[in-house]
Amino acid sequence: SEILAFADPAIAQLINQELQRQRDHLELIASENFTSAAVLAAQGSVLTNKYAEGLPGKRYYGGCEFVDKIEQLAIDRAKQLFGAAHANVQPHSGAQANFAVFLTLLQPGDKIMGMDLSHGGHLTHGSPVNVSGKWFQVSHYGVSKETEQLDYEQIREQALRERPKLLICGYSAYPRVIDFEKFRSIADEVGAYLLADIAHIAGLVASGLHPNPIPYCDVVTTTTHKTLRGPRSGIILTRDPELGKKLDKSVFPGSQGGPLEHVIAGKAVAFAEALKPEFKAYSAQVIENSRALANQLINRGFKLVSNGTENHLMLVDLRSIGIKGKQAEQMLSVVNITTNKNTVPFDPESPFVTSGLRLGSPAMTTRGMGVNEFTEIGNIIADRLLSPESETAAADCQRRVAALCDRFPLYPHLEIPVPA
Ligand code: PLP
Repeated sequence: SEILAFADPAIAQLINQELQRQRDHLELIASENFTSAAVLAAQGSVLTNKYAEGLPGKRYYGGCEFVDKIEQLAIDRAKQLFGAAHANVQPHSGAQANFAVFLTLLQPGDKIMGMDLSHGGHLTHGSPVNVSGKWFQVSHYGVSKETEQLDYEQIREQALRERPKLLICGYSAYPRVIDFEKFRSIADEVGAYLLADIAHIAGLVASGLHPNPIPYCDVVTTTTHKTLRGPRSGIILTRDPELGKKLDKSVFPGSQGGPLEHVIAGKAVAFAEALKPEFKAYSAQVIENSRALANQLINRGFKLVSNGTENHLMLVDLRSIGIKGKQAEQMLSVVNITTNKNTVPFDPESPFVTSGLRLGSPAMTTRGMGVNEFTEIGNIIADRLLSPESETAAADCQRRVAALCDRFPLYPHLEIPVPA
């Protein structure tokens, strides 16, 4: 804004540069999206000034009459969106949401079972560098070597051996549908709590295009900024109101102080958007576009982990074309395509190099692209990665990326001032 440009030209200029970057790159990071202008407005509001420790109607600060209403709307909309009996909308992020669940259900030294990071799990599911791996005993499961998909019988046998107190499903890089009912039966057999972390697929679940974990899981956590297309944040959901009260206490005062009411307002706006029929159409397009990109990459000779996708993301196994994830990420970055290197299951490379590339459709679907554009994106990626040495191929790819970005404007209401 002009006010910011006047008060702090350095920050204003960097924000404008970031806006320009978002406009002229193909954003294929599966965990990113573009919020609506309404979400941006709610988040950049005076609500950032307000302390509101506690919950709506039960605060430790005065002056909460309006933030109470905002937070209650966010709670009610989250419950409606996912069919949950209880929602806590205060976690600052997905990691904070998971931590509050651990604080509620576990004691240090208890055993948890979640998917290995290198197979598609998240750091907060027991990685040794995260508190979940430092404070709890961890038994990690992975995908099957043959199908590169979840093998529920194998997970069941492992759970029977390990007897975890908490079983975690939900992932950061898994391209297939998750069967929550099967996870429930495994958890019941071993007497474990079941947590679904639907950070990646929340928008698809809210749209009814992926099974809903609420009926089967003790607790469900999610981020709000991926397929759900809200501000960067987290929420906790449960079908059990009594457990809900305990989860509330684990968020505040258990692990957080004052809630970020400006972000909560952004979440409320995003949940209202996600309740509209247009959002369901968007989510359906996300899946269709993901499939179109996957099909084109397969047509061009690439191998995908599990040979395809059923959701918004895919993992390209680059070993068949003899390059590493790190190289591929860099080569695509040169032509303004943003992706992230990612381990593939049983990856011989380190997480800094990797054999894979993770691609997702949510962000460019928000910009309005459809199957034709995603097929073209598949061709651009193939043309770039299959001719690593060709400068003409790179220049051609860059031109095609620019043409796509020009056709689908991002935040047209935001102006970047031309330097005087
Ligand atoms: N859980 C899963 C499955 C995720 O993919 C992520 C984000 O990458 C998180 C949790 C953490 O979310 P945040 O980055 O908001 O802490």
